[in-house]
Amino acid sequence: QRSHVTYFGAGPAPLPTPVLEKAAEVLLNYKDKGIGLCEISHRSPEANDILARTKQALATLLDIPDDYDILFLQSGGSGEFSATVYNLVSIWVEKKRAKIAEEVGDNTDEVLKRLRQVVDEELKLDYLVTGSWSLKASQEASRLIGAKHVNIAADARKANHGKFGKIPSEDQWSLTPRAAGGPALVYFCDNETVDGVEFPSFPRSLEGDDAPLVCADMSSNFISRKVDVSKYAVIFGGAQKNIGNTGIAIVIIRKSLLPPHSTPASPDLLRHLNLSVGPIVLDYPTIAKNNSLYNTLPIFDVWVAGEVMSGLVDSFGAKRIGGQEEVSDEKARLIYEAIERCPDVYRVVPDKSVRSRMNICFRVNGGDADKEKAFLAGAEKKGLLGLKGHRSVGGIRASNYNAVSLNGVKLLVAYLDEFAKSA
Ligand code: PMP
Repeated sequence: QRSHVTYFGAGPAPLPTPVLEKAAEVLLNYKDKGIGLCEISHRSPEANDILARTKQALATLLDIPDDYDILFLQSGGSGEFSATVYNLVSIWVEKKRAKIAEEVGDNTDEVLKRLRQVVDEELKLDYLVTGSWSLKASQEASRLIGAKHVNIAADARKANHGKFGKIPSEDQWSLTPRAAGGPALVYFCDNETVDGVEFPSFPRSLEGDDAPLVCADMSSNFISRKVDVSKYAVIFGGAQKNIGNTGIAIVIIRKSLLPPHSTPASPDLLRHLNLSVGPIVLDYPTIAKNNSLYNTLPIFDVWVAGEVMSGLVDSFGAKRIGGQEEVSDEKARLIYEAIERCPDVYRVVPDKSVRSRMNICFRVNGGDADKEKAFLAGAEKKGLLGLKGHRSVGGIRASNYNAVSLNGVKLLVAYLDEFAKSA
């Protein structure tokens, strides 16, 4: 029974029970229309209201400045690995083309010749690889535009015995120099779901007047702490952890990257330069122009996200996401303290300086397979579910998303103490 269970799954993840109860109702009959929410048109006034309300709740929670737009796509988090590359490379190319055209005038052949050279020599995308999701994003960038254009500005495994678990200090990063025009984007994953590594704060070397365009994957720590949105070009996340159910990704994008402020390169030009042309459903200008309704948006998924976020707005009032941050921090603190109380039995995987408040990764008895199995079996008996670590790294992972209650966390803490005594 649902009320007897605390679910610590990493995503899909728990949703607030009242939202699911309401969801069950609206699936059958939305606002007494006699049809359910999955049946109504994405172009209906109801759907438009849901979109507007969901955007408003997110903008309120995160204090999103007016010069940012919010987009909904069906891309999943992984689709945004590609979308960020397609869109920002396209903008970079068009900027360079315009500049060269200014210098050489109407001579198209000369413009193309110079542009090809500039792309060849200067196009760089910087990736901070701090865990398996940023690694995947960097690999997708290499697949799309070629490895020579992808600069791994930091690889956290290098100074950590080949494993993720630390973030190299910024003085060790090799970002593409701003003086040389800078990179087309700098990418990082704010919270690494598999490895339990979270950026403690926004990197200082990505700040400043001539800061590069920063893209951040916040799939697994979205709306769990305050974010200075103005520092980012693009923030994205799949909904299926803190926000809602699987099916949509949310993108917060600086409007200066959209028309009429920025122009994407033409598909012909990109093809000419041997750069790939992205699918239209990942094209930010197209999605923005159509208020995320270029094609059929799963409005039910947007509704769930809207309910979850409106719930947080109501709960935390003027504190907004700061209220959630306090709760998330407190729950994470309780779990880490319980783990650290028993150092003979448990060991937190990532370094203390970067450990995630959302995905708490630890080992039992040095990773002893039988002990970890016993830990999971005992947890399950107590209704503490979803604690198995990602298959690629093993161990235990307690995902402390927003819908995990403080009471559920206390039950986990009690179990951690109890298991350690018997171990
Ligand atoms: N980024 C992060 C941080 C994730 O945790 C995940 C999924 N767990 C993804 C991206 C990929 O998301 P999706 O499965 O929606 O493509």
